[in-house]
Amino acid sequence: MDTIEGGCRCGRIRYRVTADKLPLAYACHCRDCQTWSGSAFSLQFILSETLLEVTGEPLLYERTSPESARTSYQRGCPTCMTRVYNTNSARPGLAAVRAGTLDRSDELNVVAHIWTKRKMNGIVIPDDVPSWPESAPPADFIAALSRQ
Ligand SMILES: [Zn+2]
Ligand SMILES: [Zn+2]
Repeated sequence: MDTIEGGCRCGRIRYRVTADKLPLAYACHCRDCQTWSGSAFSLQFILSETLLEVTGEPLLYERTSPESARTSYQRGCPTCMTRVYNTNSARPGLAAVRAGTLDRSDELNVVAHIWTKRKMNGIVIPDDVPSWPESAPPADFIAALSRQ
């Protein structure tokens, strides 16, 4: 089994993922993700929270969306402010880990893009990578993320 680990910029928050290979990542170009990442898009992989072992006591930030009434629980490093992962009341038991925090982030495959109608100019999505203008239909999205 591969060692899949990651953490924040300063090393205070570290995590280990129980999996036999690197998870597949997807990009979200929505405005919230741009703001939250300070970048063109957020990049994450989803896994069962039970497969994520975290050390270093992350800071918790909770935000309930007024539109959806869903609550997002963001975990980040209180020292260097790297946002590491989040959970959401809309998908109990699942964690979305910021893919760039993986030690082996250079080996990641980005297999789907969502909310591309908010995509910044100059960001080009390869033709063979599935993308959707807004959220993807769940079945299509799961299929894209299960691609080998
Ligand atoms: Zn840190
Ligand atoms: Zn987003």
